Amino acid sequence: MVQRGPSQPEEVIDSSCEQDKFKRLPLSETLTKKPETFHAETIIVGGGVIGCAIAFELASRGQEVLLVEQSEIASGASCAAAGMLAADSEDFAHPLMAQAAYDSRELLHKHKEQISALTGMDLGLRRNGFITPFRSYGDLSKYKDKRNTTSGVQQLWWDRSTVQREALWLNRDTYGAYYRSLESEVLPVSLTRAYARSAEMMGARILEGVQDVQLIVDKHGVQGIKTAKGEMCCKHIIIAAGLHGEQLMHQVGVVLPSSPVKGEMLAVRFTTDQAGGRPDRTVYAEDVYIVPKANGEVWIGATSLPGRKDHSVSANSMQRLLGAASYWVPGIKEADFVRAWAGIRPSTPDGLPYIGKCEGISGLYAAYGHFRNGILLSAITGRWIADMVEGKSAEEIGIEAFSPERLNRKGVMS
Ligand SMILES: Cc1cc2nc3c(=O)[nH]c(=O)nc-3n(C[C@H](O)[C@H](O)[C@H](O)COP(=O)(O)OP(=O)(O)OC[C@H]3O[C@@H](n4cnc5c(N)ncnc54)[C@H](O)[C@@H]3O)c2cc1C
Repeated sequence: MVQRGPSQPEEVIDSSCEQDKFKRLPLSETLTKKPETFHAETIIVGGGVIGCAIAFELASRGQEVLLVEQSEIASGASCAAAGMLAADSEDFAHPLMAQAAYDSRELLHKHKEQISALTGMDLGLRRNGFITPFRSYGDLSKYKDKRNTTSGVQQLWWDRSTVQREALWLNRDTYGAYYRSLESEVLPVSLTRAYARSAEMMGARILEGVQDVQLIVDKHGVQGIKTAKGEMCCKHIIIAAGLHGEQLMHQVGVVLPSSPVKGEMLAVRFTTDQAGGRPDRTVYAEDVYIVPKANGEVWIGATSLPGRKDHSVSANSMQRLLGAASYWVPGIKEADFVRAWAGIRPSTPDGLPYIGKCEGISGLYAAYGHFRNGILLSAITGRWIADMVEGKSAEEIGIEAFSPERLNRKGVMS
């Protein structure tokens, strides 16, 4: 059956880790209070991984924060992701992206400890390392020629015999592979919910099912939001609404475009007899990625379809992904099919996320457009937005390259 996103399997979460017991505010009770009850220094619009990471960071600094989500926590792109934290394997053209990715991956490991101590929740975060395999010397040369990021990547070269020794489950004809031992992966829905839950435990308020959000600004800047549930006032509004961020910004005349890039994925499960054929590290190949997850499944992805916003999954895409995946990991042919899903990545015209203050409207911030690396960049985005809410400038943090108005300044948008 095709689903909107990978359900987070119950068995990965042990009964003590409270995933099921993620307590949302009792909406009926909370929303009967007078609108003026809803005051917070900072309101975050959007409960994906980015909004929840920001709520976590602000709450951990003792800031007063309210997050509003139109649907449920982790119901957008964050529930469709593969959860790879591919800081060394992604080929970032911009040096700030490369640095941010590296820092964020390490910060996520620190957050894991903090979240676990606070809530007992298991994020399925593991540092199992990624393998980028090649069929031939020619493929390796082409890969090296194309790559932007050549320095600072933590990797080892494995020749054929090392591959055969270290990854028994990988195609025996593999010419060689890069092995990146620091690479990690996480269960994205668990991460998002854990950020939200931890934020709540540190005093943040999380409201789901809040629709029709209208930003209220005047000549002094941000005043609050109007919603179908009432008005809520604040000093800072952070738009972390993924693909819908653009529409919200439009309400107040700010133009920060983003466009959809659909991705399809599927999950398989190895049977007990095939235990030796199951990958124990992520395969990050040119044509497919294969990610063994903490829940026992192996996730295979992903297609990239610019301009598509629908959640259908095509047989053709599944055939292509399974073909590529079973070339690298032949055991996949015998594995059980579990499910397939599609999600929509929020991309921007220059491929960089919008993270920072919106010039001209005091108190308004953007945190969206993380395209194919929002899970990876969640932790650092939370840290930077919290720094700015506390008064630091983008220059001081060194992230002017992600400034929301950069495209206007460069004349990309007229
Ligand atoms: C197939 C696929 C694979 C991917 N794999 C990876 C990966 O391996 N690693 C990685 O780092 N990234 C990956 N990504 C990218 C990652 O999923 C996204 O970058 C990330 O989830 C974006 O998070 P977000 O919080 O900005 O957006 P979302 O998760 O979309 O969250 C936005 C939230 O805002 C809410 N919202 C929208 N409008 C409003 C409104 N008006 N009022 C209130 N709430 C609103 C939505 O309901 C939604 O819950 C993948 C994406 C896809 C599709």
